[in-house]
Amino acid sequence: MSDTLIASLVELIRRTSTILPADVVRAVEAAKGTEESGTNAAYALDVIGCNIGLAKDKSQPLCQDTGSILFYVHTPVGYDQIAFEEAAIAAVKQATAKGYLRQNSVDSITGANTGDNVGPGFPDMHFHQWRRDEVEVVLMLKGGGCENVGATYTLPNPKLGGRDLKGVENAILDCVLNAQGQGCGPGILGVGIGGDRVSGMACAKSQLLRALDDTNIDPVLAELEATVVRKANQSGIGPMGFGGKTTLLGCKVGKLNRVPASYFVSISYMCWAFRRQGVVLGADAGITRWLY
Ligand code: SF4
Repeated sequence: MSDTLIASLVELIRRTSTILPADVVRAVEAAKGTEESGTNAAYALDVIGCNIGLAKDKSQPLCQDTGSILFYVHTPVGYDQIAFEEAAIAAVKQATAKGYLRQNSVDSITGANTGDNVGPGFPDMHFHQWRRDEVEVVLMLKGGGCENVGATYTLPNPKLGGRDLKGVENAILDCVLNAQGQGCGPGILGVGIGGDRVSGMACAKSQLLRALDDTNIDPVLAELEATVVRKANQSGIGPMGFGGKTTLLGCKVGKLNRVPASYFVSISYMCWAFRRQGVVLGADAGITRWLY
């Protein structure tokens, strides 16, 4: 196990846990400009802004909920993924001991805290090979409160509509209305259309790896993303459900093929504490570039 790799991953964890990525900060700042001063919405966004600054200055976690620890790793063909996972586990233990991650992983039956954020599914590893000769690692910390308000819909649905884009849009907006600001809005949605119950939600979560200010390369999905954000922000739910114009900071939609018998719309809801960061590693496993 490479000490350099572990050190690089500890630094990735520290930055991810304590500093919001620039695209998210820009979105929060832009949202502040849309809310009227003196309103609860403006106050909520100010508090969020303060929290972002304090966490960065003190190198302390942005939120007490460490969240699920998700690594998305692209590796060259032949790369030792077993050794990488061992290094990732060691890095999570070190980062927890240093206070970059609060001890927040518990046994699902007994509730016992493992104390080091390591256990079955912690961290959660997603490996993909590619033909490039560099290793890219993206880390996402996915809070539990926002995870709780995510949902999977099956279409057709008598209330929401059929197996078409209108049905998809209604399902996504229904999820936002049900959340009512719970899950620490303003939220960012990752959506997966199609697939099965596992692949659809995996697709939804992976949409959260996209830059918040990118434009979907599929124009149909790009329009759906813009429509969802516009309509959600007209709902009046606002940050934390306090009312206002900022219910969503973004919506990112992907699609997978499906079998004709099923049509899933999977929605992964991310809170304002949108902690994801990524690095490219050099041949010695040192960090050569930050991604967000
Ligand atoms: S939903 Fe997000 S901001 Fe709220 S407690 Fe969980 S991690 Fe923190």
